[in-house]
Amino acid sequence: MMQETMFIDPQRCIGCRSCVAACRECGTHKGYSMIFVDYLDRAETTATMPTICMHCNEPTCAQVCPADAIKQTEDGVVLSALKPRCLDCRNCVNACPFGVPKYNSAMHLQMKCDMCYDRTSEGLKPMCASVCPTGALTFGKYQDVVPLRRTKPVNVHVFGNQKVETKVFLMLPTDEEAVDVDGCGVFEGRLGVDPSIHESWIDTQVEETDKGNEF
Ligand code: SF4
Ligand code: SF4
Repeated sequence: MMQETMFIDPQRCIGCRSCVAACRECGTHKGYSMIFVDYLDRAETTATMPTICMHCNEPTCAQVCPADAIKQTEDGVVLSALKPRCLDCRNCVNACPFGVPKYNSAMHLQMKCDMCYDRTSEGLKPMCASVCPTGALTFGKYQDVVPLRRTKPVNVHVFGNQKVETKVFLMLPTDEEAVDVDGCGVFEGRLGVDPSIHESWIDTQVEETDKGNEF
């Protein structure tokens, strides 16, 4: 059983997009990057944050798939859609609370981060974490990574009435046990941004140009 997981520390992200370049190099998704780096609020700050699949303990993407195309390994890693099964319905693309899966219209296939399971199941780091120069993307065991950070590991995300627990941890400057996505003040206070000008925390994450869910 794989004990390592991913830790995303947005405060460490310098926007270099090395992770994006490394992800593109992985042969399993044919030159497309499965990691996205977005500005938090470009008008106010140069701060950026990477987005990968959070590998939900009970993945909505898999639950809504009518073809059972999205499998979860015994390690809790949620894999990309199986090509022979995917029906092009895009249910998963629309259902993921984190906006992670993309639909590849040329390949008629859902694609997403699968934590480089071909590598991580063999004890290697995912491509992104192997090149991140600041540790914003870190792959390791909880007991090894967390003591080295002053930020708090959070893997509970509250979307309205829905609570989503994930295998991946966000390292955040917070005392909260969970991230309240609909009104999270974790970053706004730090950035001096008036929370009232945003509909939700997610809207602070994604530039207009990056909101498409297709390649
Ligand atoms: S973050 Fe989205 S794509 Fe990843 S496991 Fe959860 S629901 Fe599925
Ligand atoms: S697009 Fe493919 S993987 Fe996604 S829900 Fe539909 S059949 Fe399943």
